[in-house]
Amino acid sequence: MSQLIARADPGEFPNVTTERGERAVFCGLTSIIWLHRRIQDAFFLVVGSRTCAHLLQSAAGVMIFAEPRFATAILGERDLAGMADCHEELDRVVSELLERRPDIRRLFLVGSCPSEVIKLDLANAATRLQREHENRLRISAFSGSGIETTFTQGEDQCLTSMVPDLPEGSETGQRLMVVGTLADIVEEQFRRHFSQLGITEVDFFPAARADDLPPVGPGTRILLAQPYLSDTVSALIKRGAKLITAPFPLGVDGTLAWFQAAAGEWGVTPAQVEEALAIPIARAQKSLAKVKESLQGRSIHFLPDSQLELPLARFLRDECDMTLLEVATPYLDQTLMAPELAKLGAGVSLVEGSDLDSALSRVRAHRPDLTVCGMGIANPLEAEGLRTKWSIELIFTPVQGFDQAADLAGLFARPLMRERRLEVGSWS
Ligand code: SF4
Repeated sequence: MSQLIARADPGEFPNVTTERGERAVFCGLTSIIWLHRRIQDAFFLVVGSRTCAHLLQSAAGVMIFAEPRFATAILGERDLAGMADCHEELDRVVSELLERRPDIRRLFLVGSCPSEVIKLDLANAATRLQREHENRLRISAFSGSGIETTFTQGEDQCLTSMVPDLPEGSETGQRLMVVGTLADIVEEQFRRHFSQLGITEVDFFPAARADDLPPVGPGTRILLAQPYLSDTVSALIKRGAKLITAPFPLGVDGTLAWFQAAAGEWGVTPAQVEEALAIPIARAQKSLAKVKESLQGRSIHFLPDSQLELPLARFLRDECDMTLLEVATPYLDQTLMAPELAKLGAGVSLVEGSDLDSALSRVRAHRPDLTVCGMGIANPLEAEGLRTKWSIELIFTPVQGFDQAADLAGLFARPLMRERRLEVGSWS
């Protein structure tokens, strides 16, 4: 049974409706797929069931010849019944793994629904194992369980577990920390643009190498590249860092506003940013204009899934001329999302944690041109003649920054173009 709480936000913010619907999304273990690609010398050891192992293997499409960088320590019936000492077994598995894989520089013990149900304390296990392997690598634990969490929160938990290991930053002098997993190519572009703005003290967290831990302290300015990192931000703020609130770097406008917010901390004006980045902005606008033709005038409905919904909706409405029917997100962090809420403005129907049944009834009533949703919901909607876009694809694809704006629009244009081709095909 969903509990509906409507609250009106003042001023130009959208009217937010909060529901307490059930989650119909992947669990946080899914984040291991993009995290293990990013942190190239890390290993993720899931302590879970065969279901967890299957989820990871099918989602990651494991390469047979490669040395995998994630695995599942399967909890058997005796473990689940509390008849075996799971800690002893875990110590043995970790020792064997580290003996065989000297290249691992960071080990994550990843909790799951089964390990949480039997209250296996992986944080304690990580501390104990860290003592044992002190000079060899770093070990931390986080939860990827699907109990009341969405798949992107796995990254939030993972990064939060690393914050205590970050070295102390200096008291004086500002450093920028871009927080959230990005593709290597996007990191390169962002570094280049920051340097064009005169900002050279830039760290990316997480970095491609586990030992590249950025310093954190009162001089640290946090700039989020991903919107689902509330716990990581809280942990960094506790270490003295200051958050720069900004729209997210999706689309040309969003990326420009993101750089402008960061540059403001270094005394660079918005007009100077626009001038310094004029070439990539013009290039991105030109590429986007071609894709936009397939999107303008079409309607879109977001079901709650990835927590990227607000910036995506803003981009598709403001830069691609789409009509927003409803924007739903699993959780709404009003602080991190404040600039996006202001950009969306009043008149947008925004739902936090929607109840699935009522949300689907609205999709069926409105029959949008495109529905953005999780994979499990997409197939039934397609069977009803509705076009869908899997939101998880947006996490696996490099979509941030100027040069990726057209690719991002292309991800939404593709299902609509495919539909048109099918329509034409059925007449010929
Ligand atoms: S963590 Fe939970 S939801 Fe995720 S695969 Fe394992 S059992 Fe399923």
